[in-house]
Amino acid sequence: MRLILLGPPGAGKGTQAGRLVERYGIVQLSTGDMLRAAVAAGTPVGLKAKDIMAAGGLVPDEVVIGIISDRIEQPDARKGFILDGFPRTVGQAEALDTLLKAKHLELDAVVELRVDESALLKRVETRVAEMLARGETPRADDNAEALAKRLHAYRDQTAPLVEYYGAHGSLRTVDGMMSIDDVTKEIQRILGGLGASGAAATA
Ligand code: AMP
Repeated sequence: MRLILLGPPGAGKGTQAGRLVERYGIVQLSTGDMLRAAVAAGTPVGLKAKDIMAAGGLVPDEVVIGIISDRIEQPDARKGFILDGFPRTVGQAEALDTLLKAKHLELDAVVELRVDESALLKRVETRVAEMLARGETPRADDNAEALAKRLHAYRDQTAPLVEYYGAHGSLRTVDGMMSIDDVTKEIQRILGGLGASGAAATA
């Protein structure tokens, strides 16, 4: 199964991806996580991305496309993957199409998590509080100022992907304002309708 989770920051993409990984035995490919790891390790990609990410902007397409292209090649992605936070621009979506075509692979679905913008700041604040409670360092971009820029980037550059994938017929929209469990159930219902059966279901 190959899936894209689309939605603004705080929509619940990471949470839902984590649950789908368990159920379907596929990998979560989060460009945000990969970039944060690169920043922490001080790699050339990390050095390029650090300030852009902290300010809430988008890292250049060629950087993230390179990262995803390499990652999809890894053996653990053979069974399938969930793209979380990629693509984020039409250019990235087109590059992904080309990449998948060259590998004779297809996307099974693009699931958009639709969330009221007014709820997002609260969700991000909750994530910060939870990370602090676990003794972790909150993300550099989980603050009101960077979130406003991330939302702007989403509206401006990522929201057009709803139309892009809508035109390809693979887009499904889920109400991301439901409880976490209900969102999971709804995504599983959609994937079940596509013929996907989870590891738990087939065990
Ligand atoms: P995320 O963890 O998905 O919220 O991503 C955190 C930050 O990483 C974003 O605000 C961007 O600065 C950067 N980033 C992650 N994925 C991408 C992407 N596909 N394209 C450009 N920038 C990205």
